Amino acid sequence: MSETNQTSLTMKILIAMLGGAVLGVLLNLFVSEEGLLQIYLIDGLLLVVGKIFVASLKMMVVPLVFVSLVGGVTSLSDMSTLGRMSVKAIAFYLFTTAAAITIALSLAVAVGPGEGFDVADKAVEFTGKEAPPLTDVFINLVPSNPIEAMATGNMLQIIVFAILFGIAITLAGERGKHVLRLFNDLDVVIMKMVEVIMKLAPYGVFALLARTFATQGIDLILPLGAYFLTLTAALAIHALGTYPVLLRIFSGLNPLHLLRKMRDPATFAFSTASSGATIPVTMRTVEKRMGVDNSVASFTVPLGATINMDGTAMMQGVATVFIANVYGIDLGIGDYLMVVMTATLASIGTAAVPGVGLVMLTMVLNQVGLPVEGIALIIGIDRLLDMMRTAVNVTGDCTVSCIIAKGEGALDLAVYNDPDAGSVEASTGDLAHPEPTEA
Ligand code: ASP
Repeated sequence: MSETNQTSLTMKILIAMLGGAVLGVLLNLFVSEEGLLQIYLIDGLLLVVGKIFVASLKMMVVPLVFVSLVGGVTSLSDMSTLGRMSVKAIAFYLFTTAAAITIALSLAVAVGPGEGFDVADKAVEFTGKEAPPLTDVFINLVPSNPIEAMATGNMLQIIVFAILFGIAITLAGERGKHVLRLFNDLDVVIMKMVEVIMKLAPYGVFALLARTFATQGIDLILPLGAYFLTLTAALAIHALGTYPVLLRIFSGLNPLHLLRKMRDPATFAFSTASSGATIPVTMRTVEKRMGVDNSVASFTVPLGATINMDGTAMMQGVATVFIANVYGIDLGIGDYLMVVMTATLASIGTAAVPGVGLVMLTMVLNQVGLPVEGIALIIGIDRLLDMMRTAVNVTGDCTVSCIIAKGEGALDLAVYNDPDAGSVEASTGDLAHPEPTEA
């Protein structure tokens, strides 16, 4: 294994992020809206490279989740394992989200962002969206058309279909084994595609960050400094405090290894602002770098990317307090409890794509009778916060995956503790599934 190779990819990505951000800020300061640089660089080259990078990650999500989960389900010893794992994973995901929003609310109430904020000259129109009723969430779990579920990337439906498919493979005996062999081989091939795309990440990340900073600018952040800093602090506390403590308590693992190995998925999540698009990298990291068995990771990672949005819930908590303060509306303890509940549920319904958390904030604000127009105040700086909270969302998915795997005896400690395990560039033939041997 070559540590230098791995370090060099991660380093390249970090340098690309920094370089992209610096270029973006410069472009934002010095390029005129109608200028050639705006047309050919910001809305030309950077846009194209960034979009292609995100698209190539998204391209991998559905094939990877489906193929990997089918293999994962078939390798479980019995179906009660799957049931137990589902209950544990959902419970952990909900618990971490509730903890996240409680931290965010407490910090926001203590700091009081938005007090003395002059709303008059900043408000613009914002019309909210209705949240889907909870009944629909259950009904929509089962795809009436699995191809459509895959075409639209409906993760929960794909998970349900893959689980059934995997169970059927086991039930089909000898015939099923042929199909399984194919799926296990496909899994290896698709993982290789992910690795190829990861190697191109520095270019994609550079373009994404340069364009984001070129179009957003940082001057917007200043008037909302208190909101921005409170949320950033809350996210940091959760990522660097709550997760390590939970990991230690529930699995006894050393959290430093996890945090170090989070660099790749966290930088991908940060640059793309989409935990959905980051699934391939998260899955690869959890399996190859953290030693979580495919039977757990193939289930917990896509599920987490879909229903576990701790960072998003935190934004909703801080934003609620901020908007209440701006409009001078007092919230009672009952309101805060309502926010915790709604934001936890809203985070489940939040699609893993950029900016959706803000739309779901409507639901939280409605619940406690706050003006939805308040969202217009924070929308300008949401992209940067979205990038940060997406990195937190993904860290949560990895932490819970490790906890569940450890509990199920499906975590390879040697891999988890090895800082160099599963590096992209050194990766040659280390497979999620062993090479088939002829029977
Ligand atoms: N961008 C977030 C994610 O994909 C969702 C959100 O907070 O808007 O995890």
